[in-house]
Amino acid sequence: MAVDRYDVLVIGGGPGGYVAAIRAAQLGLKTACVERWIGKDGQPALGGTCLNVGCIPSKALLESSEQYHRARHGLAAHGITVGEVAIDPAAMVARKDGIVRQFTGGIGGLFRKNGVTWLKGSGRLVGEGKVEVAGTDGAAQTVSAEHIIIATGSRPTPLLVAPLDGVRIVDSAGALDFTDVPARLGIIGAGVIGLELGSVWARLGSAVTLLEAMPEFLPVADRAIAALAHKELTGQGLQIRLGARVTAAALAGDGVTVDFEDAKGAQQAAFDRLIVAVGRQPVTDRLGLDAVGIAPDERGFIPVDGQFRTSAAGVYAIGDVVRGPMLAHRASEDGIAVAEGIAGQHCHVDYGTIPWIIYTWPEIAWVGRTEQALKAEGVPYTVGTFPFQANGRARAMEAAQGQVKLLAHAETDRVLGVHIIGPHASELIAEAVVAMEFCASAEDLARIVHAHPTLSEALHEAALAAHKRAIHI
Ligand code: FAD
Ligand code: NAD
Repeated sequence: MAVDRYDVLVIGGGPGGYVAAIRAAQLGLKTACVERWIGKDGQPALGGTCLNVGCIPSKALLESSEQYHRARHGLAAHGITVGEVAIDPAAMVARKDGIVRQFTGGIGGLFRKNGVTWLKGSGRLVGEGKVEVAGTDGAAQTVSAEHIIIATGSRPTPLLVAPLDGVRIVDSAGALDFTDVPARLGIIGAGVIGLELGSVWARLGSAVTLLEAMPEFLPVADRAIAALAHKELTGQGLQIRLGARVTAAALAGDGVTVDFEDAKGAQQAAFDRLIVAVGRQPVTDRLGLDAVGIAPDERGFIPVDGQFRTSAAGVYAIGDVVRGPMLAHRASEDGIAVAEGIAGQHCHVDYGTIPWIIYTWPEIAWVGRTEQALKAEGVPYTVGTFPFQANGRARAMEAAQGQVKLLAHAETDRVLGVHIIGPHASELIAEAVVAMEFCASAEDLARIVHAHPTLSEALHEAALAAHKRAIHI
């Protein structure tokens, strides 16, 4: 039987893999992408974690729950009285599923437009330049490729003491499909997923308790921003128990009991549902890494060099399966860079300017280094902060919580980090990313005209504040 031969074969069709495949095809390379995901409708689906059970569905539920919460609690301040406001969680989840279907189907369309072949099934490396595809239809084939890109992503890290039953004890994917509002919701892990999904269900009426093993809240964020976030989120009713080590979780009656230890000693809590969100781990099992001599590192990630090359000739790895931020936009940028590198172009991603966003209310967003990192590295810096309380647009929106904090080098004035908690921080951070990518100084930002009244004026004022010349505080 003739073996199909490609220039580029991508294993995994998430935001890393599908973007790499499209870019490779745009560059004239004969490209295929192996993807095995089966969607909720039982059909093969592209888009990986991000489109199926990650970024897009979680943001759909965050938006719905925010609209509901605002209708119930946010309109009176504007002088608007509404009647009874009700939520139909099943309709909310069905809307989310519709968006997911549209987007995953859209990737299929992009593949057709760009001439990428989708091989529906599971890919396994079987030798140099060879991948065996176990088709979702039961058929198997071996394909060969000059360049193979591993983009197999990640899955939730299991917690042995809290085994999932898929109904009452679930991972992040299960938590996107509740069709009723649990009265008491427990979440193990107060990280990004815990805070986002905790916000969704708290807005809909759940009493949410997050059990976080670390003694510090959001250690990856700037300390000042994390402290403000803690105050805002606990103020909204999220119970955040820090330093809580879960020792057991089990189904009990109609609910779940969780045993944990914290500074107060051994404790037990009862919930109707429990979400386990303690991080994600790379997917490399049954991938045949040993067939080409690739050894994952001690945490299971695939080691690569600056051009995404693994230790095996012609094999590359990108996205969540490689150490670094587990973010969709990072995976996609890796995908573009690796495809361009294979095509002989420049291959580079600037990991120093990757924005992080947590889609709570208010949103939390940052780029670059935190104040604690600069201190630890001994870098001299200046700080400029500006509160949204003093921003006209935020006040007009009745959304004046939070602040912008800008860090600049004390000698060169180069912007080293921007940290925002506030309305639409997810959009505002883009200006800071551009500024940092162009090596802007705080003075550059301060001298750029920002439209009035906009939320972006808060960044402008933070840049002015770094030189002690803010106008509105
Ligand atoms: P994945 O998206 O995991 O895709 C890997 C694909 O490879 C999967 O489709 C899998 O089926 C396939 N695969 C694996 N092995 C094989 C094989 N052997 N053969 C064939 N196919 C295979 N990131 C953000 O940037 N913003 C967000 O708002 C955000 N929200 C999130 C919310 C949640 C609830 C979760 C869980 C994650 C979120 N993320 C977010 C993280 C984001 O989803 C991931 O960083 C991103 O999907 C990683 O992309 P990837 O292509 O590396 O891997
Ligand atoms: P996370 O690393 O953000 O948070 C996991 C939390 O669980 C940490 O605070 C950790 O200390 C805690 N933890 C670990 N073991 C524990 C235990 N035994 N008991 C109690 N707490 C424990 O991971 P996540 O929230 O699962 O999300 C995974 C990744 O997915 C994120 O790191 C991020 O890269 C990505 N993601 C991104 C977004 C976004 O960009 N908005 C949204 C969701 C997920």
